[in-house]
Amino acid sequence: MATPTVSTVKYVYSFGGGKAEGNGKMKDTLGGKGAGLAEMTNAGLPVPPGFTIQTEACREYMRGKISAEMDKEMDAALAQLEALQGQKLGAGDNPLLVSVRSGAKFSMPGMMDTILNLGLNDESVKALAERTQNPRFAYDSYRRLIQMFGNVVLDIEKAHFEEVFDGKKKQKKAKLDTDLDARALQEVIVEYKKVVKKHAKIDFPQDSHEQLVMARDAVFRSWQNDRAKHYRRMNNIDDMLGTAVNVQAMVFGNMGETSGTGVGFTRNPATGAKEFWGEFLMNAQGEDVVSGVRTPMNIAKLNEIMPDVYEQLRDITSRMEKHYRDMQDFEFTIQDGKLYMLQTRNGKRTGLAAVRVAIDMVNEGLISKEEAVLRVEPNQVVEFLFPRVDDKALAKDAVLTTGLPASPGAAVGQIVFTADEAVAMLHKGKMKNIILVRGETTPEDIHGMEVAAGILTSRGGMSSHAAVVTRGMGKCCVAGAGEVKVDEKKKEMRVAGQTFKEGDWISLDGTTGRVIKGKAAVLPGDPKDPKLVEFMSWADPYRRLKIRSNADIPRDAKAAQAFGAEGIGLCRTEHMFFAEDRLPHMRTMILANNEKDRRAALKKLLPMQRKDFEGLFKAMDGYGVTIRTIDPPLHEFLPSRESLMVEIAKLEITKPKSPKLKELRTLLERVEELHELNPMLGHRGCRLGITYPEITEMQARAIIEAAVNVSKKGIKVLPEIMIPLTGSLKELRHQTNIVRRVAEEVFKEKGTKVDYMVGTMIELPRAALVADQIAEEAEFFSFGTNDLTQTTFGFSRDDVNKILPIYMKEGLLKQDPFAVLDQEGVGQLVKMGVERGRATRPDLKVGICGEHGGEPESVKFCHRVGLNYVSCSPFRVLTARLAAAQAALEEKGGSGGATK
Ligand code: ADP
Ligand code: MG
Ligand code: MG
Repeated sequence: MATPTVSTVKYVYSFGGGKAEGNGKMKDTLGGKGAGLAEMTNAGLPVPPGFTIQTEACREYMRGKISAEMDKEMDAALAQLEALQGQKLGAGDNPLLVSVRSGAKFSMPGMMDTILNLGLNDESVKALAERTQNPRFAYDSYRRLIQMFGNVVLDIEKAHFEEVFDGKKKQKKAKLDTDLDARALQEVIVEYKKVVKKHAKIDFPQDSHEQLVMARDAVFRSWQNDRAKHYRRMNNIDDMLGTAVNVQAMVFGNMGETSGTGVGFTRNPATGAKEFWGEFLMNAQGEDVVSGVRTPMNIAKLNEIMPDVYEQLRDITSRMEKHYRDMQDFEFTIQDGKLYMLQTRNGKRTGLAAVRVAIDMVNEGLISKEEAVLRVEPNQVVEFLFPRVDDKALAKDAVLTTGLPASPGAAVGQIVFTADEAVAMLHKGKMKNIILVRGETTPEDIHGMEVAAGILTSRGGMSSHAAVVTRGMGKCCVAGAGEVKVDEKKKEMRVAGQTFKEGDWISLDGTTGRVIKGKAAVLPGDPKDPKLVEFMSWADPYRRLKIRSNADIPRDAKAAQAFGAEGIGLCRTEHMFFAEDRLPHMRTMILANNEKDRRAALKKLLPMQRKDFEGLFKAMDGYGVTIRTIDPPLHEFLPSRESLMVEIAKLEITKPKSPKLKELRTLLERVEELHELNPMLGHRGCRLGITYPEITEMQARAIIEAAVNVSKKGIKVLPEIMIPLTGSLKELRHQTNIVRRVAEEVFKEKGTKVDYMVGTMIELPRAALVADQIAEEAEFFSFGTNDLTQTTFGFSRDDVNKILPIYMKEGLLKQDPFAVLDQEGVGQLVKMGVERGRATRPDLKVGICGEHGGEPESVKFCHRVGLNYVSCSPFRVLTARLAAAQAALEEKGGSGGATK
C-alpha cells in the first residue's frame, strides 16, 4: 500500500530587502521573469519586493487540482511583503498595491497582460489620493486597474472601456489622456464599473485578496489561451511547462514630472551594435511606452532630464550584461526621482545582431568562441542572405498587420490577385515587381509564384503550400495574415481599415511577418558579409557532418557553393525533363508503346541531359555530385486527363476532321493507361527503370559521358549515381548492373575512366530493414526522409495538410513531421538503416536529402546517428552548417544558449 506522501513542493519564493529565496538559474521553477527578479534582488539592485508563485502551481491548475498548500504559502508571502513594506494590501491610510505578472520559462508574447495597481478599491483609492496629495494620480491608477482587470481577468473587450474613456475625453474637450482631471476620472470609474457589471455580470471586486486570487488564476488560465498555444507551437515550446505568477509591490512612474517609465537594451537588438538603446516616457505607467498612445523619447534624452538616474541605469544594466554574459533587455520605472528595475532578461535579437553580439562578446573577453557558436539560432543566420527591410526608413504607421514569417527576406511590389494575372502583367510589361496576394496558394499557382517578388496569404500556416514552396524558392513570403481580407473576385484586399486594389504597392517582410504599406526601403543580402564569414569560420572547425546541397541546375549549384555547400547531395534529373525543349521528347518517349520508339526518343534526350550534367560537374569542381535516376510517376509529364477530354470535346464540334484530334485521342488513351489510384506508391522510382531499362541506360550514359568529357578538361569529377525508391537488394542489383555495364561501355569508347559510385535512396521502411543486404550492392545510402516520413506514417505528403492542423491543435503531433524529422519513429529507421548498412560495409557513406537536411533539430539528430553528410536546399546550407557545429559542441557538453 502506498504511504500518503507529504507535499514537499515549495510553491512560493519571496524576494525583497536585498535577498531572494530563488535565483537566476531557476527559470524552470520561477519562469524567466521570476528568476530574473530574484537574481537582481540578490545582486543588490533596486527591485520592488514581492514573491513568485512557481510553475508547478500552474501545472496543478491545468490538472484541475490546486493545492491548499499553495494558497497558504501565498498568504504567508503576502504577509511577509506587507511587513517589509509596512503596508497592508489595499487597506489603511498607506495601502499596498501590487502588480500581477505572468512569466514562463521562455518569454511569450501570447500570454496574459500584466495587471497593475491591484489592491485599489473605492476606499484605498481615497487613501492613496490623500497620502500622495495627488488625486489625479490615484484615480488614474484606479481606472487603469478596472480596465486591465476587466479585460484580462473578466474577458471584457477593451473596446467597451475605450468607448467610455474616449466619450469622456470628447465631453471634456480633452486632447490627451493626461488632460482629464481627477473629477473626470472619477466619473470614468463610475462608468467603468457599469461596464463590468453589464458584461461580466458581477461587481468589480472590492476585496483586495479576492482581486489577487482572481488575477493569479487568470494568469494560470492564460497559459492555455489560443494565442499562447499558437506561440508555443511556432517556437517549439513544451505545452506542459506552465507559467509562474509574480506578485510585486507597485512603483509609480505616473506620479508626476519627476517620475517615468521605460524599456531598453544594452546593445542594438536590430544590428547588434554596442550602443545603449531604449525609450522612455515621463509621467507614465507600464505599457504606455510600447502601446503607441504617446510617442516615447530616446533614452539619450534621459541624460538631459535626470543625469544621475541615467548614469545609474547605465551602470546597472552594464553590470547585468556582464553578470549574465549576454545582451540584456530591461524595464525600469522612476518614482519621484528614484530608479527601480522591473525586469532584465537576455534580449531577443535579429540574426544579424546575434552574430555581431556573439563576435563582439568574444572580443571583449566575455564569452568563449564555443559559447559564441552556441549563442546563435541556426535558423537565424539565413538573414544575411536575404534582402531586408530597412527599419530605420520605415514610416511609423506603415505596418498594416503581422502574419507568419513563412519565408525570410523582403519584397516590394504591386499587388496581383491571381497567378495568371501575375504572369500576364509581367509579360505585358505592365508590372515588374509583383506581390501575389491569395487566400492561400495551391500547386496551380506555381507559375504566378515563380514570377512574383513575394507572396502574401491570409490563410495557412508555416507548412502551408505557400510557405513550403517559397522557402524552397528562396522567395519572401508572409503566410496566414488573418487580418488581411482577400476578395479575389473584386480584386481587392482589406486590412487595417484600408482597401488595396490591383496595382497598389505594398512590401513584405518575410523575416518578421510584417505587411507594409507602400514601398519600403530594402537593404541587400550578402553571403560574404565579413561578420558572417568570421562567425562561420569559428563554427566550421567543430563540425563533423559535411553539408551538401540539393541542386538540379548549375545556377543553384553555384549559389549553394557560395553558401558553403561541399557537394550536391541530390540532383533530381526529372526536373530537367520539364524544360520546354525537352517535354515533347519526354512525351514521345512515354507515348511509345515499343522499345524501339522509346529508344529513339531517349536518344534525343541524351545529349541534353549530358549537357546538364557537364554544367553541374563544372560548377562543383572537386566535390561529389549525387545524381538520382528518374523518380516521379510518368503521368506527371503528360497533360491531365480532364484537360485532354475538354480539348477533344471542343475539337469534335469545331474541327472534327483535324489530325490533331487523332493525336489527342491517342494521348488520352495513354494517359488513361498510365493513370494510377495511388501514384505515390505506384509506377515510379526504380520501378520505372526496371520496367523501362533503357531509361536508366540513357541516364547512366549521359552521366558517365559527361563525367569523362569534363574530367578530360582537367576538372575533378566525383559522380555518384543514385537509384530511388528501392525496397530490396534484387531491385537495386537490377539497376546497378545496368549502370556498371553502361559505364564500362563508355570507358571503352572514350578510352579513359573516371571514378564513380552507385548507391541508393533509403526511403521505404523495407529498405531500412534490409539495409544490410542492400549495402552489398550500394556504395552509399541517402535517406530520402520526405518519402520515408510519408511511407512510415502512411501520410500522403500532398494531402496531409487536411489533417495536420487538427493533429497539431489537438496535440497529437507536436510538429509537422515533414518539416522536423520524427526522431522517435522515422528516426529509428534511419538509425537502424545506418547500423545495418555499415555492418555489411563499414565505410558506407551515408547522408540524407530532403526538407529535414536543413532543419536544425534534424541536423543535430543526423550528427548523433553518425551520418557523413546532410543535403538541403541552397538557402538552408548556412543553417545546416551552424546546426552541425552546435551538435558537435553539444556532444562535448556545451548547452544551447540561443535566446528563445
Ligand atoms: P511583459 O512580460 O509583457 O513585459 P511585465 O510583467 O513585464 O509584462 O509588465 C508590463 C509592464 O508593467 C512593464 O512596463 C513593467 O515595467 C510594468 N510593471 C510591472 N510590474 C510593475 C510594478 N510592480 N511597478 C511598476 N510597474 C510595473
Ligand atoms: Mg516586461
Ligand atoms: Mg523520394
